[in-house]
Amino acid sequence: MTTLLFRGAREILTCTADTADIVMRDAALLVVDGIVHGVDTFDALSAEAPAAAEIDCTDCVITPGFVDSHTHAVFGGWRAAEYAMRSRGMPYMEIAHRGGGINASVRDIRMRSEEELVELGRTRINAMLSCGTTTAEVKSGYGLDTENELKQLRAIRSLQQETPVDLVPTFMGAHEFPQEYRDRRGAYIDLIVNEMIPAVAGEKLAVFCDVFMEPGVFTAAQTRRVLEAGVRHGLVPKLHADELENSGAAELAVELGAASADHLGAISEAGIAALAQSATVATLLPATLLFLGRNRYAPARRLIDAGATIALATDFNPGSSPTASMPLVMTLACSQMGMDPLEAIVAATVGGARALRLTDGTGTLAPGAPADLAVWDIPDHRELPYRFGAAPLRGVWKRGQRVRPSL
Ligand SMILES: [Zn+2]
Repeated sequence: MTTLLFRGAREILTCTADTADIVMRDAALLVVDGIVHGVDTFDALSAEAPAAAEIDCTDCVITPGFVDSHTHAVFGGWRAAEYAMRSRGMPYMEIAHRGGGINASVRDIRMRSEEELVELGRTRINAMLSCGTTTAEVKSGYGLDTENELKQLRAIRSLQQETPVDLVPTFMGAHEFPQEYRDRRGAYIDLIVNEMIPAVAGEKLAVFCDVFMEPGVFTAAQTRRVLEAGVRHGLVPKLHADELENSGAAELAVELGAASADHLGAISEAGIAALAQSATVATLLPATLLFLGRNRYAPARRLIDAGATIALATDFNPGSSPTASMPLVMTLACSQMGMDPLEAIVAATVGGARALRLTDGTGTLAPGAPADLAVWDIPDHRELPYRFGAAPLRGVWKRGQRVRPSL
């Protein structure tokens, strides 16, 4: 039996509720065999477990490890040349015309082997872990044909064998229409429904099925067809919804019982009301809108006040959000979307777990939860977003094992 006693922390954030009650001051945390046993005074816990190995967390803050519930972290190369073009004001359509945009990532992935994708994915998952992320959703969607979608999902599965980060795979063949189907969109939907989804489900390569519903990309009818086919094969719906323009995607996500509706920069009042009355989590991705130079963020405050459940995630991807940093996302949530630091921390931990339908306590430090936690060299949790994406991380533990810095 391995027993660890984290002692001396100024604050331990349990994230077991959405209120200020989750900040435990001058408390200790006991972990037994990789599972959280409890948060209490040091005296009480050391009496309970006198032989526990003590971990000095003097003047630190302890949070659950982050649950980054929306990423495209397995991709080929970066797209910095395109970023330079965009920063000089070139419109996305022209960049796409010159061979950039998402189709650049599609061509790239199609040329690489599964082993190469694992190699590249490893550095990105490690970057996430070094920012305090201990659970991450990862989507396919750069293959856009059966062979390459499967290759991307198999690379995610191989990465799971070697990384301590829990990876939750999502099939996203409906990320964009590939070049060869641009004029035969119905045929591409048929391919997804009749071939890709059965193949993905047959190999148990994904938990979720996601669609990029946006004017000019996937319509409501196409989105419904793909997500309903996914449900028939046991894949839970997720939706890239109302990112840049409103198309009623949040409402459709609720109607289809999606685990989450993500982006929501252009959500309508009806969409807010629908999410507020549902179990569908509103996943907000402010790093994407910042990086794209848009100054219209999702209405986090109105979603929270209406009663919606919020998750924060990075949207880590080479085109519109090349960051692995959940602390940076929390800074944007507070500075740009009016969230309170505590709300941001809850959304980045248990909020993400809800968006991934994880029910084992992941994203919290409740008794019985996996001991996934981050120890921060700050005396006050408000410094986590305040330090502008660069709060000093002392260490990360996954199921009670120290994984950062590696020993
Ligand atoms: Zn995305």
